[in-house]
Amino acid sequence: MPRSSAFARGLLFAALLLCAPVLAKPPRLTLFLSIDSLGTDLLLRNRSHFRAGLATLLDKGAFFPDARYEQAEVMTAPGHAVLSTGAYPWRTGIVSNRVVNRATGKDEPIFWDPSHPVLGAPAGPDDSSPEAMLAETLADHLRLFTAGRGKVVVLAGKARAAIALAGRLGSPFWFSEGVGRLVTGTFYAKELPPWVKALNDRRLPDQAFALSWSLSLPEKAYTGLDDRPFEADTLGMKRRFPHPLSAGLPSPGPQSYSAFASSPYLDEFLVAAAKGALVAEQLGKDEIPDVLAVSFSALDRIYHLYGPYSWEAQDALVRLDRALGDLLTAAERTVGGRANLLVVLSSDHGGAAIPEELIAAGLPGLRVRPSVLKAGLQTELTRAFGAPLLLGFTDFEVVLDDKALESRHLDGAAVRRSAAAWLARQPGVAVAVARDDLGGCEDLQGYQGALRRSYFPGRSGDVLFLLRPFAVLDESETGASHGLPYAYDAQVPLVLYGRGVRPGTYTQRIQAVDIAPTAAMLMEMGGLAGAEGIARSEAISLPR
Ligand SMILES: [Zn+2]
Repeated sequence: MPRSSAFARGLLFAALLLCAPVLAKPPRLTLFLSIDSLGTDLLLRNRSHFRAGLATLLDKGAFFPDARYEQAEVMTAPGHAVLSTGAYPWRTGIVSNRVVNRATGKDEPIFWDPSHPVLGAPAGPDDSSPEAMLAETLADHLRLFTAGRGKVVVLAGKARAAIALAGRLGSPFWFSEGVGRLVTGTFYAKELPPWVKALNDRRLPDQAFALSWSLSLPEKAYTGLDDRPFEADTLGMKRRFPHPLSAGLPSPGPQSYSAFASSPYLDEFLVAAAKGALVAEQLGKDEIPDVLAVSFSALDRIYHLYGPYSWEAQDALVRLDRALGDLLTAAERTVGGRANLLVVLSSDHGGAAIPEELIAAGLPGLRVRPSVLKAGLQTELTRAFGAPLLLGFTDFEVVLDDKALESRHLDGAAVRRSAAAWLARQPGVAVAVARDDLGGCEDLQGYQGALRRSYFPGRSGDVLFLLRPFAVLDESETGASHGLPYAYDAQVPLVLYGRGVRPGTYTQRIQAVDIAPTAAMLMEMGGLAGAEGIARSEAISLPR
């Protein structure tokens, strides 16, 4: 054989080697991002402002604008539990942010666990442990799948978001407004890791005390007006830019930490924490897959105070876009490029407009005060049955006093149905149902499926109710709230990016329970134990 031809064949062989598919490996790092209160509508309205992280993910990833929560109560704890497990509250047990304690009648945070309190903050009735979580999370599954070698770090502005994402086997850290630091629960650790201590020692929330949150774009870039009478003015932040973050205090304290948490600085703090975790925990550095989950909580607080059409919500997204760009760059650098990275981005819920701004626009906005419903229902039960039978009331759930029902030999179902009938007659209430009737043949105006998916015996109320569209359950006089199965609360984006993702815009309606199974498929591990959803294979193209 002539030397030249052997050389040519050698070249060909080398070229073939270069073209051969690399061995299939799962992504070294999955960035699982939740942006609290980012409904699809809010995202799309602000898309033209994005230049950094959100622009990259939306323009180069797979974008599903129509992911829906199909449970009744659409809020942070149930939403994050759906995101992490692929199951609705009837399986996760995470029915709402708070549940009524049937012994005391008081409502308590759903992740409060007195035997496993918060580590690094004063003891109190706060979310602290995953005991209430009954389904397997993505974090749990990865830890099992890798025999404990894959790391899962979860960061959030709120405990309930961190815990719901972490499940039992992840390592969650969340911002405590009480102490202005990242903390965790004693369920998870006896001591904070050095990188969390180092971040806390930088005292970034204390430094923000002297700052104001000001606009990041020229005024003409914002839609609508800055100062509107139905926006909240709390924590000394005022309704107009710039918003001071000192809460009117002489020195940093819980209220200034709350102001900090109601500004985009919280999200920038979480990105600083995420970058610290990437380096210290060596996330994505080897071929054993890791997860870094971050729940950005600032937008939710900003949304509640100023509403989804506010300049504040618009500016929060501009700043979040930049912060996400920073995080994406850091993650890609750590793992050695996009081919080793998977990004999953979604939200735990969207958010209704401020009722008074709907009224000003000519729509039937209504503010329904839970205290008024509670007092009215107690009066009605006393009138009808001769005793104050209402024990507790939280969000969209009513709990009756079982002991009083028993001692008075009352027919519990009859009392529950009577309470539901009274609630259903109140202004703004769309439907109210006794738990006895959830499983019946009646479709409850189309709400039956959502109500059943939100119902967990023993944790949920004895009577459940929902408000009609544009009615909002909120005690305050100003600001916005969410929690109902309407598009503005229940429709969120799903964005996938990186390894194994087939880019494009996918307009079909999908369910929020599809998100965790899709992530599990892209991470090349088996399905999650309790998941109800399916992997969205139209957006998946895994190497063989
Ligand atoms: Zn909220």
